[in-house]
Amino acid sequence: MSVFNKYMQTSQGKLFADKYCNVTPGENVSCILCGSPQAKEWYRMGDFISKICRRCGCRYVSPRFNDAQLDAHYSEDLFTKSKDYEGVRHNMLDENERARKRSDMKEEIRTTIERCPDGGKVLDIGCQTGIYLQALPASIEKYGIERSRWAAEHTRKITGAGIRTGKVEDGYFEQGFFDVINMSYVVEHLQHPPVIIKKIVSWLKPQGTLIISVPNFDSFCAKVFREFYRLVEPRQHLFLTTPASLRYLLDQMGVKIEKIYYPYFGTSYCRFSEQFRLLTNMIRRICLPVLLKINKVPEIPRLISPAFYGNIMTVIARKR
Ligand SMILES: [Zn+2]
Repeated sequence: MSVFNKYMQTSQGKLFADKYCNVTPGENVSCILCGSPQAKEWYRMGDFISKICRRCGCRYVSPRFNDAQLDAHYSEDLFTKSKDYEGVRHNMLDENERARKRSDMKEEIRTTIERCPDGGKVLDIGCQTGIYLQALPASIEKYGIERSRWAAEHTRKITGAGIRTGKVEDGYFEQGFFDVINMSYVVEHLQHPPVIIKKIVSWLKPQGTLIISVPNFDSFCAKVFREFYRLVEPRQHLFLTTPASLRYLLDQMGVKIEKIYYPYFGTSYCRFSEQFRLLTNMIRRICLPVLLKINKVPEIPRLISPAFYGNIMTVIARKR
């Protein structure tokens, strides 16, 4: 049995067991970028398996939730109920929390303002409670797509943007309509990334800018912590994005990556206490097989990877 599945059976691992053992993922998939069925196992969490494609190197989850399971999962109130591994509840309506998020998104906001002329059009896919759209000047015409009805309504109210409620899969805009399209933490959730990205790119003007922020599953923490990397979530993170897989995907869509940022230094996450925790948690993670054997089972906050440089990446790309 894998070390993660052993950990899930301990009292400390109950949180993971509640998440990953109560349901069986309903579908097997081939590589979500190139379609190849040839893959090697990276690690497993319950019945969910993270795989690496032998043909294109893409990392993805299979078996994974099917449509019905995903719908049920997303219908839970993820905006108000979600707590992080340290037990902190994040309220996306709290002004301090919003200011912090806005500051973490400063590259996205700066690039958008720089590249969008007055009267230009911006689309935020997965706009949540409107933190990004709210930060843009009134001279920009704002649009959004948001799955949660409640969050869509909130964003409409505070930004005056044209928000469509629903999945990006069902979205429709004219070809070449937007100057800038932003997608923050959306791409890793996509079931069929090539199909969706192709559609989104068609909405961009020639030379239009695509901004994508995603977890990086090729980061130092992803490699060292594996299943205990804090951005692993096999129920909803289906495409385990890396700089190489994004480049592979966007290249095929006629979009050229111009810059990749790894926001960390200068953000609220960059703290000495967290860097110290990284070191101690890393030692526990490496020694976990031994710790389990001698029954010294670490609690999740003392085992999970803290925020660190490289975990998150923001890609600035331009349509050819
Ligand atoms: Zn592949």
